[in-house]
Amino acid sequence: MKVAVVGIGVAGAYLMNQLSDLHDVYVTGFERMPEKDHDAVCAWATCDNVMKDYAKQCGLNLENYILHDGKKMKVDVGPGIDSGNNIEINLKGMVSYDKLKLIHDMIRGTNINFEKSPTKTSLEEDFDIIIDSTGFHRHYLPKLNDELWIPCVQYKVKYENIPFDDFYLKAFPSLSGYFWYFPLGNGYAHIGSGDFQRKQTHIFMQSFIKKYPCEILKKVGRPVRITPPSKCLPFTDGKKTIGVGESIGTVYALLGEGIIPSTICAQIFMNNLYDRNKYIQDVLSTFKIYTNVYNFINKSINKKFNLLKDFMEVLKIYKYMKSSEDRFGMEINMLNMLKLTKI
Ligand SMILES: Cc1cc2nc3c(=O)[nH]c(=O)nc-3n(C[C@H](O)[C@H](O)[C@H](O)COP(=O)(O)OP(=O)(O)OC[C@H]3O[C@@H](n4cnc5c(N)ncnc54)[C@H](O)[C@@H]3O)c2cc1C
Repeated sequence: MKVAVVGIGVAGAYLMNQLSDLHDVYVTGFERMPEKDHDAVCAWATCDNVMKDYAKQCGLNLENYILHDGKKMKVDVGPGIDSGNNIEINLKGMVSYDKLKLIHDMIRGTNINFEKSPTKTSLEEDFDIIIDSTGFHRHYLPKLNDELWIPCVQYKVKYENIPFDDFYLKAFPSLSGYFWYFPLGNGYAHIGSGDFQRKQTHIFMQSFIKKYPCEILKKVGRPVRITPPSKCLPFTDGKKTIGVGESIGTVYALLGEGIIPSTICAQIFMNNLYDRNKYIQDVLSTFKIYTNVYNFINKSINKKFNLLKDFMEVLKIYKYMKSSEDRFGMEINMLNMLKLTKI
């Protein structure tokens, strides 16, 4: 069976690694970026309790990629930058890691054509299965009508004097987005902002840089899909193409977290390589709670959230996260969650 993996992000790299090991599969990867510029636009935060198992599955040790091991995350819920009105979240596995290096090590020795975004027709001529792992772009799948995505900008920076020694988040009003400072070790950090309303991003990026001067090494921007899998159907074009990862909405909307969900999605694909319907059903059931999270965020952003009316929704999300503290790499506390719903 000939398989094309188009888009070499976390999902595509994991699939390249795993599919290349199968003796009855001939897998070819395609990535639109040139190899030297291939990037992983992302803040590089994940949970090592979970990610270490996926790295191990690829014969790699996540410890070798960790840049910063988090202990406490400050979530600033007051006005302005570093307001002092913080929620402190104890971390239990949240790290920043060299995502690009891990991707490159996962695809080492596999067959990838960089700087190539083939047409669907040419892919259909040459392959039995075409995996769309193009992330936000969803390039080879039918376009969606009712989409929610958050535009983001991010800088990689270097500090002489670091502003914080651990993860820092600034939550924007109505949970329309976040500003983040994620340490990368040795004075390096990713600072970025994603805001549905767009207006907060510029204000917070500028005021943070003014308050904490740094050397800007790289600027990137891209949206993150918030629409959950249940609203990203169809996952296929009805022919040879099937989506894996953010292309079909595997992002945990409350945190803008897509690394682990997209890798889980890639593993679900591997488990159901020969059964497309089972893959679709398993994705929908695994990520069912993402629809509740999306509804909550959507209501918050549109100022339709009412704690009394929507309490059951919040409770469901809380119970899920509380029972998955190891998965999220942080302690979950109802009081903190309620504080977040009030900003
Ligand atoms: C600014 C920002 C910060 C983030 N920070 C975090 C974080 O800290 N932790 C976390 O868990 N999640 C984070 N996310 C979300 C996370 O990065 C994504 O959800 C996750 O990487 C999705 O993985 P993927 O493999 O599905 O897609 P991607 O990682 O987006 O990979 C898609 C790949 O496809 C390629 N591609 C696109 N179109 C084509 C085409 N037509 N032909 C060929 N190749 C193509 C792209 O170049 C890219 O290499 C962040 C997102 C953004 C935007």
